[in-house]
Amino acid sequence: MPSCSIKNTHDAFMLRACTQLGYEQSTFELLLRASREIHLELPLRRDDGSIVVYNAYRVQHHNARGPYKGGLRYHPDVTIEDVRGLACLMSLKTALVDIPLGGAKGGIDCDPSSLSERELEMLTRKFVDKIHRNIGSNLDIPAPDVGTNAQVMAWIQDEYSKIYGYTPSVVTGKPIVTGGSQGREEATGRGVGIVLREYARRCGKLLDGKSVVIQGFGNVGSHTARILGQMGMRIVAVSDIRGGIYNPAGLDLRDVEAHHRKYGTVVGTDGAEPVDNSTLLELECDYLIPAALGSVIDGTNAGRIRAGIVVEAANSPVTYDGSRILEEAGITVIPDILANAGGVVVSYFEWVQNIQQFSWSLEVIQRRLNRKLQVAVDEVCTLVDAERCSYRDAAYRIATRRLKEAFFAAGF
Ligand code: NAD
Repeated sequence: MPSCSIKNTHDAFMLRACTQLGYEQSTFELLLRASREIHLELPLRRDDGSIVVYNAYRVQHHNARGPYKGGLRYHPDVTIEDVRGLACLMSLKTALVDIPLGGAKGGIDCDPSSLSERELEMLTRKFVDKIHRNIGSNLDIPAPDVGTNAQVMAWIQDEYSKIYGYTPSVVTGKPIVTGGSQGREEATGRGVGIVLREYARRCGKLLDGKSVVIQGFGNVGSHTARILGQMGMRIVAVSDIRGGIYNPAGLDLRDVEAHHRKYGTVVGTDGAEPVDNSTLLELECDYLIPAALGSVIDGTNAGRIRAGIVVEAANSPVTYDGSRILEEAGITVIPDILANAGGVVVSYFEWVQNIQQFSWSLEVIQRRLNRKLQVAVDEVCTLVDAERCSYRDAAYRIATRRLKEAFFAAGF
């Protein structure tokens, strides 16, 4: 197969899955390519009167299994290549957990921390103004990702509803008061906990007291820390964009959360020593959980990772080269499309509730999330045992096969 098709990490993993499944090159190319790529330019008048034009992207990868679905990222490094790769990843994730949704991703190349609340709202509304014909409950459903949150989703919902009437199902991850779901805010972190628990149960491993290092203390990282702490695991290090903190005896998470709430960073929390983000990844621990950005473990630092298991709570934190080095070193990787799928599963539940105009209790959400992820972990582990392959290979093969079957059943 031509290497020119390989533009990012997921392409390479998908190519490997297609090869293992015996698919032709044309099938790989078909599965890889997005149905639609949208590039917008968004001019914003800043509070100081200056005008800045931001690039915005939405890549709709595939909708053969259901409407396009995926996050919207606000980050200065957003590029069309990244968004393309992440959109394909979403298609694989929704296929792996077998929910009736496709895959998409979006992003605006802005730094949300440098924008005022008014500027963020204007930029978000401008985005909807330009893209509303291409999103919708049965078309494409955005959700929060890096740099966006429930408030951003509420602005999207409001702007869209001005044109089409009240439509909460156009986004997920919105505030509960505007139609959001119980349990969505913590869903990705809770999902990481469920996946780890099920994996450990299948492998006969104990999680109690095991040391955990987490990079990123945003939505995913902070909830993952809290939930793994509740499961009896010892969180020894966490970080955010400003740096990290480390205490081998275990951090007091209530102190970390209180400090983060007050100062907007974990740096400076009492009872822990400072550690920079690259050293944090190389700390000795049982479980390393990258929960910030992509490609943080690559060919240059993978050889220095001293974790027993890497759990990809972020999307695409380990590159293809990094993955090969970890595999050779005998370090297990629980792949992103399984580890962080709890978020999209509860997004799916939110969408279903909005369509039904009915809301489910937190208990129902958690029970259904547990069940969905248990089945997915079980399917992946069964293939790993049968084929003696990696967890990534197993997850990609299951997801790629489902994607291919839907593509071919729908026809061209
Ligand atoms: P977020 O914006 O809430 O948090 C991101 C965290 O990463 C923050 O603590 C930030 O300070 C930190 N960070 C940013 N740049 C960093 C850097 N260079 N080094 C270290 N830390 C840095 O984002 P999130 O929603 O928690 O998403 C985190 C990851 O999880 C992303 O890869 C995202 O695609 C993925 N993900 C999110 C969800 C979800 O439901 N939010 C679902 C699935 C996957």
